[in-house]
Amino acid sequence: MRSYSLIAPAKINLYLEILGDRPDGYHELAMILQSIELADRVELRSLSTDTIRVHCNHPQVPLDASNLAYRAVELMAQQFPDVFARFGGVEVIINKQIPVAAGLAGGSTDAAAVLVGVDMMWQLGLTQPELQDLAAKLGSDIPFCIAGGTALATGRGEELSPLPDLDSLYVVLAKDRNLMISTAWAYQTYRAQFGHTYIRDAQSLESRAHRVHSGPMVNAIYTKDGTKIAQLLHNDLEKVVLPTTPQVLRLREAFQSSGALGTMMSGSGPTVFALCESEAQAQEVQQQVRARIPDPEVDFWITKFSNHGIQIVSTVS
Ligand code: ATP
Repeated sequence: MRSYSLIAPAKINLYLEILGDRPDGYHELAMILQSIELADRVELRSLSTDTIRVHCNHPQVPLDASNLAYRAVELMAQQFPDVFARFGGVEVIINKQIPVAAGLAGGSTDAAAVLVGVDMMWQLGLTQPELQDLAAKLGSDIPFCIAGGTALATGRGEELSPLPDLDSLYVVLAKDRNLMISTAWAYQTYRAQFGHTYIRDAQSLESRAHRVHSGPMVNAIYTKDGTKIAQLLHNDLEKVVLPTTPQVLRLREAFQSSGALGTMMSGSGPTVFALCESEAQAQEVQQQVRARIPDPEVDFWITKFSNHGIQIVSTVS
């Protein structure tokens, strides 16, 4: 039995700007994505039958074809039917460490790990761009999750320009345990409230994305200026989530006065993160926020920026 064990890191958004609508119904975005060390562990095992099976230690993660990791195996089987017939089915065991429906790309990174692992298992020899093209068919964040690190993401998030590695910053994450926010709801609500501000013509969209690429946040990343990066954090989706979700607002306000370098909601939330220059500062910030919100339903994580996407940690033949 072949088996592969992979590390699948979460991401946070250092920047998320909604530029406009796309003909395919998605939004045109300009984002800066950052991998963090908080990660799921994904194990793949070959099966002697032609089935796909998913196991997960988290009760809220579906195990059927709605699991993104399941759909990643299905996609590979559709793309490479002869190889699938030769190697047989795949069992995916997800050890979930990334909070679910939290704006941290938990499902996307599991799917990215499956694409990388199945490529190895079936000895396909796909290049990273080939894997990323397949990934884009499954979900907008999955191409980024494969490569990881720091990147500017445009289009619906699948067009990536790598940025220099940043590994010195610490991150405190906080989330209400039972609160989940649907990404689809957040974008639809944004469209309903702010659709009138959308850029309509293709040329203006392109030049706006270009301006983000040459703008102050990318500049701060090139100069590795953590203080500046933290001051320039931006997320348009806060405009719809903060007014409707008091649990996110209270975390955002508590982090704001905690002495962290900066704070922002990640993706469509509800996770709020704060950037810190050291582990000691991260611990101090966590204590401050915990003292201000003594709610046992709020979970915290201290982690770091990571330069890695999906990593294979062990292989058994
Ligand atoms: P993103 O930041 O990419 O929008 P997210 O971090 O907000 O994603 P996920 O953790 O991916 O959200 O979960 C969103 C929904 O997807 C969950 O409610 C869950 O039902 C479903 N899901 C499907 N596959 C997975 C998976 N492998 N891990 C977690 N959730 C999954």
